[in-house]
Amino acid sequence: MRFDYDPENIFAKILRGEIPNKTVLETEHTLAFEDIRPQAPVHVLVIPKGAYVSQDHFARDATDAEILDFNRTVAKLCETIGVEEGFRTISNARGHGVQEVPHFHMHILGGRPLGRMLA
Ligand code: IMP
Repeated sequence: MRFDYDPENIFAKILRGEIPNKTVLETEHTLAFEDIRPQAPVHVLVIPKGAYVSQDHFARDATDAEILDFNRTVAKLCETIGVEEGFRTISNARGHGVQEVPHFHMHILGGRPLGRMLA
């Protein structure tokens, strides 16, 4: 699979500081910020700072340090953003996944019962 990264996507602009964001947590390789259109009381997006299009791109090509940092950041967020009662992570990819922003991101949703997604 070939992944073509568009450096003009909105999350690349956030990472370059060209548009504002509500940062929740920032580490060496990872940024977490509030979703601009929250779908739950807690809705945080977690993105790697590297240029990865989707989760499969990230998992295949990111360095071990980036992958570890991303996952530890998710763990830290889950202890601090108010989702102790439970949460859902979602990562949409490409057309069938209805991915709006072509920079890998993980949604963390919580703060209320989310309902069953899969039967
Ligand atoms: P996707 O469908 O998984 O790609 O979702 C992209 C998410 O990015 C949506 O939930 C949007 O509300 C969110 N989003 C788009 N632009 C911004 C922004 O500038 N700041 C924060 N979140 C954004």
